[in-house]
Amino acid sequence: AKAVQRGSSVVFDESLRADLARGAQLDSELRGALGRGELSLAFQPVVDLVSERIEGAEALLRWTSPQLGVVAPSDFVPVAEDLGLIAPIGAWVVEEVCGTLAAWRDEGVVDGDFSLAVNVSGRQVRPGFAALVADALARHGLPARVLHLEITESVLLDESSCTALALDELLALGTPLLLDDFGTGFSSLSYLHRLPLNGLKIDKSFVDQVSSSGRLRTLVASMLAMAEGLHMSVVAEGVETQEVADTLRGLGCRRAQGYLWARPLPLEEFVALARERRQA
Ligand code: C2E
Ligand code: CA
Ligand code: CA
Ligand code: CA
Repeated sequence: AKAVQRGSSVVFDESLRADLARGAQLDSELRGALGRGELSLAFQPVVDLVSERIEGAEALLRWTSPQLGVVAPSDFVPVAEDLGLIAPIGAWVVEEVCGTLAAWRDEGVVDGDFSLAVNVSGRQVRPGFAALVADALARHGLPARVLHLEITESVLLDESSCTALALDELLALGTPLLLDDFGTGFSSLSYLHRLPLNGLKIDKSFVDQVSSSGRLRTLVASMLAMAEGLHMSVVAEGVETQEVADTLRGLGCRRAQGYLWARPLPLEEFVALARERRQA
């Protein structure tokens, strides 16, 4: 026993064993989650900072597991990626979002310019993904411009020809491509010149203290100037206070999302909010 002491002391550590068991349970539960209908979407409004109108929304995955309770996407999306489940889950998200948006347009919940954004994992950016998106748009009678695709820098860091081809296919499709969590990566600027992205989402870490920090104000102002020069749209993420909203507006930022206006809402609550705002 002594000979394998190091290894065994790790393997038999009780809390680690519990972690492993929880991980294994998460894996096995997640494999069946889509089929059992445990996934849903929440919708967070994107507002115009001047008119306060709802211009669009971001769809965010939610998993309610009978075994594990509510699991946060930051806990299960990376696991889904590792297990090879993000492609089918992502395809479901695209289908769900297109169906939902088409219904909202038909029912007059939103107008023709309203856009719905989905998060796209790097694992999904493969040749053929654009065809899947095009098919969903066509079946639901939606123009490409109303479906926004949010990708992170890690997608762009992957210089494989297969990712490059998939990005070209998406750009040709005409669905706006937005760079999510902008500013948190390592080389954001280099691909802004290589790829004609349509917009940026300024990460919450820049937004949070923009009112109190002159340095952050300067950084955000330069992001806005750069985006304008490159004809890219900007959404500031994670706005929680009126002070931050006012500062961003003062800097010329047009659109934002955050708890100040609404948390990501279940479908029915989002519809109620959108209807109420349309009447106002
Ligand atoms: P993200 O795309 O950066 O999404 C923004 C996150 O910030 C969301 O967390 C949202 O609920 C949260 N948030 C929005 N406003 C505020 C605010 O004012 N304050 C604070 N503290 N947080 C705010 P959520 O829903 O937990 O999602 C976490 C991440 O999971 C997302 O980050 C995204 O990377 C990933 N994710 C969510 N849905 C999907 C999906 O359908 N597919 C993929 N591949 N990833 C997804
Ligand atoms: Ca996002
Ligand atoms: Ca983000
Ligand atoms: Ca994020």
